[in-house]
Amino acid sequence: MDYKELLKRAEDKISKELSSEGRFKVPKADVLIMGNNTIIKNFVDISSYLNRDKKHLLKFLTKELAAPGEFEGGRVRFIGRFDKKKIDEKIDLYVKEFVICPVCGKPDTKLIKEDDLVKLKCEACGSKKVVKRI
Ligand SMILES: [Zn+2]
Repeated sequence: MDYKELLKRAEDKISKELSSEGRFKVPKADVLIMGNNTIIKNFVDISSYLNRDKKHLLKFLTKELAAPGEFEGGRVRFIGRFDKKKIDEKIDLYVKEFVICPVCGKPDTKLIKEDDLVKLKCEACGSKKVVKRI
């Protein structure tokens, strides 16, 4: 094995280790526009990475995009054409509102129902905030 190859292996290993550090990174949407439809191919991967109910995320996006959307296997199809940038922005918005703890900034949260309200409860610092119903 030559030196270059060794170096490449070492670099691959380092970048793998960095990315598996458990740091939270909002997944980017894999968007496909077909005719008058927009498909998010990795929709279920995104919702499971965020540890949120996929139906909740879909409801949010259909509202934000003002377009109907439905599941198609692990993908979601929206009626209308939306570019990737717009969808990524909406997912970021969702993460800010429904995933990230506003107190400590960690994503280790869950949505709970309490006193007839939906709250974002942080497992890391224990704080709770009331979130919008969607
Ligand atoms: Zn917190």
